[in-house]
Amino acid sequence: MNEKTSVLDKADPKIAESIRLEVERQTYNLVLIASENYISHAVREVQASVMTHKYAEGYPDNRYYSGCDFVDTVEILAVNRCKTLFGAEYANVQPHSGTQANMAVYFSVLEPGDILMGMDLAHGGHLSHGSHVSFSGKLYRVISYGVDRDKEVIDYEQVGKLAKEHHPKLIVAGASSYPRLIDFKAFGKIAKDVGAYLMVDMAHIAGLVAADVHPSPVPYAEFITSSTHKTLRGPRGGFILAKEEFGRILDKQVFPGIQGGPLMHVIAAKAVAFKEALSESFRAYQNQVVLNAKTLADELKKDGFRLVSGGTDNHLILVDLTETGLTGLEAERILGQAGISVNKNSIPFDTRRPSITSGIRIGTPAVTTRGMREGEMVVIAKYISQILSHGDDKTLLKRIQQEVRDLCQKFPLFQNAPNLTGDLLGTSTSWI
Ligand SMILES: *Cc1c(COP(=O)(O)O)cnc(C)c1O
Repeated sequence: MNEKTSVLDKADPKIAESIRLEVERQTYNLVLIASENYISHAVREVQASVMTHKYAEGYPDNRYYSGCDFVDTVEILAVNRCKTLFGAEYANVQPHSGTQANMAVYFSVLEPGDILMGMDLAHGGHLSHGSHVSFSGKLYRVISYGVDRDKEVIDYEQVGKLAKEHHPKLIVAGASSYPRLIDFKAFGKIAKDVGAYLMVDMAHIAGLVAADVHPSPVPYAEFITSSTHKTLRGPRGGFILAKEEFGRILDKQVFPGIQGGPLMHVIAAKAVAFKEALSESFRAYQNQVVLNAKTLADELKKDGFRLVSGGTDNHLILVDLTETGLTGLEAERILGQAGISVNKNSIPFDTRRPSITSGIRIGTPAVTTRGMREGEMVVIAKYISQILSHGDDKTLLKRIQQEVRDLCQKFPLFQNAPNLTGDLLGTSTSWI
């Protein structure tokens, strides 16, 4: 096959062209978006496999379709690996996304109008934790907790007080932009004291938890939900862990409750990703993710930036740009011009709208998968601080843009980029 042509080029040149441009973009962009990562060759090969052809409504050995022998083997492997990885009694690997996983848990234990307590979106929570624009905020009466104004960490006393006052049926712990460890044991105690269920949404930190780099919620929560494509480095999807006693109701709420047929190609890809996550090299990777985030945090602080909560314990940092005179939106845009992808993000008690914000969120999972380490983080921090202090200097921007390209080239993502799929199946044992 010529590098320039593929089956898709003939079948659909417009889509082929977009994919080629996306491969190019991914090849030369420094991705510091905390929720993004790159999957391995093996995971990608499986996700593009014939498993996508199979209808398999139901669960292994109990399907509504014939011909499910081999997809059953795959789903059983995925479930068992997931349980082993996190030390859980029960796992459901069918949710199409993290949000679907959350929905299945809510539908299992809540009735419309019940009280749900979750972290405020503006303080780092997720849309599906009770935001009024999400089904979660429309169906349930929502009580939100946040971080302490001075320390900018979760105020467990406030959480406890709110729980005592409002008696939620379910408390959700977990966040999308929280740079510190979350004390799941404290949440477990708060929930127990008021007779609430605890659901931990570990979407962002699942990889860290799998590698013991973040304390596990498994001993303390009745329910744990996650996406598979963030630090866990799997295909785009979700899963649920729980105590065995909730298995039947959760199975029913995922299918037929909120989903139809499972995506067997994605479940197969999840199985491969879980196997990878059980390896020693995955532990080393997660340790490096955190080390890289700490290095980036220290360097940015040296350059005078204020970090929310003063630093990080995990894979992400939140930079407060108030003093720089830039909004999050402006910072995202000028860093983007240099090939550095971050996302604008509200900071706690932000005075700007969510579409503008006063902060940016920076994460290290993707660049760490590319093989970058502390040395590269020092360089990247320099780029960020130079751009954010001299964003209107076109010469500087051009120079850094070129250096970012060079850096990306030194840590290649794809074996033979930029061809159409961004890989050469079976010719490489390297990660990506
Ligand atoms: C990313 C995320 C999710 C799930 O997102 P999906 O896009 O639906 O997979 C859920 N909860 C939290 C805290 C997240 O960060």
